[in-house]
Amino acid sequence: MTTQTLEAEAAALSEALEGLDLAGRLALIAGLEGRAVFTTSLGIEDQVITAAIGTNRLDIDVATLKTGRLFTETVALIDETEETYGILIKRFHPEKADIDAFVAQYGMNGFYESVEARHACCGVRKLKPLARALEGASYWITGLRRGQSGNRAATPFAEADIERGLIKINPLADWDIETIRAHVAAHAIPVNPLHSRGYPSIGCEPCTRAIKPGEPERAGRWWWENDEKRECGLHVPEAASSIIPNASNAA
Ligand code: SF4
Repeated sequence: MTTQTLEAEAAALSEALEGLDLAGRLALIAGLEGRAVFTTSLGIEDQVITAAIGTNRLDIDVATLKTGRLFTETVALIDETEETYGILIKRFHPEKADIDAFVAQYGMNGFYESVEARHACCGVRKLKPLARALEGASYWITGLRRGQSGNRAATPFAEADIERGLIKINPLADWDIETIRAHVAAHAIPVNPLHSRGYPSIGCEPCTRAIKPGEPERAGRWWWENDEKRECGLHVPEAASSIIPNASNAA
């Protein structure tokens, strides 16, 4: 698909999704021609989407990136969520050779030492597995919300991901955290117990800490870095090629 075609379809989808509720948004994507993949990190937003996919038996693949550095609570929630909704959450792991190369160059926890090392770690543990999870997909569904950080304040319902050659769908873009929490309570959706211990945003264990009252939701992610726009690269399209060579073709 050309860049113009992707952008035109994304714009039309964004408009169509805006007037629908969550189930309607996901049903619309599931009904399109082409494979749809939802990648979950098991965060509270992602659990809302997984519950909607499972409850409505939608034809959307659910995948997660098992980085090897996740919290025990997150790993347990993968199994619990599969049992609750009778779905398969496909696990994508980093390649051992990539991890060995990272550790040889930077050390197991070398990501604390430099932004370059941190990006390299996210590259091998997240970006390359993500590329495999999205192979052959036309639509990539995420739990991004505008309220998660200033960096995400303009998140659209659908956007062209030129680097990956697909359309990214953000069906919770306009939901705030209070609405998410109310929905989870009303539908008894299982969530990570770390959320109630001060972790609104949960990533890898060594790179996530609890936040203080009043801090932004993502303040506990890579807290030692100064860049206010820090991300792991999953949602920064150009990072796919800049963080790891040939990432857009990585298998
Ligand atoms: S979040 Fe931390 S441990 Fe996880 S992949 Fe990125 S740098 Fe590595």
